[in-house]
Order: sequence, then C-alpha cells, then structure tokens
Amino acid sequence: MHTIQNVFDRELWVSLPPWFWTSTLFVFGCMVGSFLNVCIYRMPIGLSIVSPPSHCPKCGYSIPWYLNMPLITWLWLRGRCAHCKAGISVRYFLVELLTGIAFAACWLRVGQEFPSVALSLCVLIAGFIVATFIDFDHFIIPDEITLGGIGVGIALSLLVPELHHTESHVSGLIRSAVGAAVGWGITYAVLQAGKLAFGKQKVPLEPNTKVLFTETGVHIQGEETPFEEIFSRPSDEIRLRAHTAWMPGSGQRWEDVEVRLSPSRLKIGTDEFDPEKITELAMTCDALVLPREAMGFGDVKFMGAIGAFLGWQGAVFSLLASSVIGAVLGLSLIIARKKEWSSKLPYGPYIAAAATLWIFVGDALLAWWQARL
Ligand SMILES: [Zn+2]
Repeated sequence: MHTIQNVFDRELWVSLPPWFWTSTLFVFGCMVGSFLNVCIYRMPIGLSIVSPPSHCPKCGYSIPWYLNMPLITWLWLRGRCAHCKAGISVRYFLVELLTGIAFAACWLRVGQEFPSVALSLCVLIAGFIVATFIDFDHFIIPDEITLGGIGVGIALSLLVPELHHTESHVSGLIRSAVGAAVGWGITYAVLQAGKLAFGKQKVPLEPNTKVLFTETGVHIQGEETPFEEIFSRPSDEIRLRAHTAWMPGSGQRWEDVEVRLSPSRLKIGTDEFDPEKITELAMTCDALVLPREAMGFGDVKFMGAIGAFLGWQGAVFSLLASSVIGAVLGLSLIIARKKEWSSKLPYGPYIAAAATLWIFVGDALLAWWQARL
C-alpha cells in the first residue's frame, strides 16, 4: 500500500538528482510566469485573475490550455495571436522566462538543504515580479500583493520556520511578525520624513513665463507635459504663485494669487473648481512646485510583506539598498538621456531588486561587513 508522503518531507525531495529539481523548478516557474502575466494585466484594473482564461486582447481568441506552453507557444506563434495574428508583447515571454530563471535560482540557492524554504522564496519572488510590472504600468502595488504578502509570509514562516533560520515554529512566527512590523515601520517613518524634506521639487522658470493648464496637461512655452506624467497619487499637487491668472473661456481673472492643482481639485486663491470642468487656465509665473515623492503607501505595505518573509534584517537591508539602487539608476538615466523635468519612476521595483539581492547574496554581504568591523 502506498502512503502519501508529505510535500515538506525532505527525504522525498532530496532522493532525486539536483539537475532534475533545478529543471523542474524552471519549467514550473515558466508556467507560474504565464499566470503572473494574467495577474499583472488584470489585478490593477480589478478583473478576476481566474476567469475567463487568458485570451487575445484583440479578437478574444483563447488558446486551449493543452496548447498553451509557456515560452514555446509565444516563440512558435512568433509573438502573434494564433487566430487574428495581432502582435502579442514580448513582455509575456520575458515574464515567463524571468519567473522560470528565478524559481530555478531559488532552488539552487537553498533547495538542496531546505526545499520548503526554496519554495517559500519562489512565492515571494512571484510576488516581486507581479509588483514590479504593475508598479511600472500603474504606479501602484495592489493590496492583494502587499497585504496578501504579509498574510502569506506570516503563515509560511509558521509552517517553514527555516525561512528565519530557526527550527521552532513559534520563533518563525515571531520573527516574521517582527520583520513585518519593522519593514512597515521604518518605511512609514522614511515616507513621513520624505514628505517634509523631499516631497516637492521646485522648477524655476524665466520670469513671467506663461503656463497653461489644459484638459490634458501642463503647457510651458509650447511644450505639453501630460498630467499622468506629473500626478501619481490623488494627493499630488502642482503649486505656483501666479502674477496673473485667467480663464480664456469665462473671462474670470485673478492677480497675484496662489494656484494649486490636484487630480480632483483646482484652487485659485480661495476659489475652488472641479478640474474636469475647466477647459483652460492661463497664468504667468516665475516657478512651479511639483509633487515629487519617491515612495507611496503601497511601498510601506510592500516592505511589510518583505519583512514577513525575510525578517527585520532583510527589511532594513532592502530599504537601504533600494535607495542606493534608486540613486544609481536615477543618475544613469540623467547621464544616458536628458531627464525630463517631470519624469518619475516607481519605487517598488527598487525594493524588489534590493530584496532579491538580499535573498541571493545577503549572507555574503553580512559576512563581508562583519569582517570589516
Ligand atoms: Zn487574436
């Protein structure tokens, strides 16, 4: 009679050769990546991630599941829908490949010794991939990933305490909860401090420059910058001191007045308007102040989830390293091409990159650091 072996039973996992498991994890990762593509596309716009099955966005054709092989299908169809031949972004292929490589790498990192730790890290990295691409597209990280990640992280830490270098389930649970609290707490503190120090960016202009707010964006000397490049959060605000302000349509006029525009409100002095109903506002001014916060509250929750999986050390490292990665990348962007005055980047991908660094080389970095002390 067969007995069903526990999936967390080490003997079951280690009895097979290492290459077998590494390649299995790669294939499994590619399949998961195919599902992550669905999450990346549907989660931020509030669609169900389970039904309907993935289909061509143009003609609605759905590849039968038995023909849908990760990587292979995309290559076989040369990036086109099998039915209407519409192009399918190479990103679908890359997300599948990236997930496959990441799962195999997690296995190579700890799988031989602690298979269940490797699988837990795969769950975390799958979350990183979804968070990164959604943040790039929408400047948000959905609660399913961040708050869900905290819940899953704490549950897995109870089941797999080796994730926190302990054999006691209670210790695993405690270290996970402490990690979540530290990750959340320090990021929240930095966010609040940033609001005071770096939350705004003053853009100096020639004296008496004419600035236009239209339905779609800000015009300065004939150049339009769309609002979606400036605003990332409902609380973001453009502020300026206008020498004169006027609405060409209505004939209303103001002198020496403070103007504040957010996605939902336009304030001119003490007058308030709904920006949706204003077709054009013209102003003359010497400077504008733009919202410029690197992080949002989504990043606070995201760091909570990272702490739940990686403990307080992983959370502290991820926050510090993400700021270094962000600074280096921001600088390279300025060198590579002239950075636009309005350009902004999501912060979540920096955190995900830093935490991934911690997973793979955290031990080595700690040893190197301790040797220097
Ligand atoms: Zn199609």
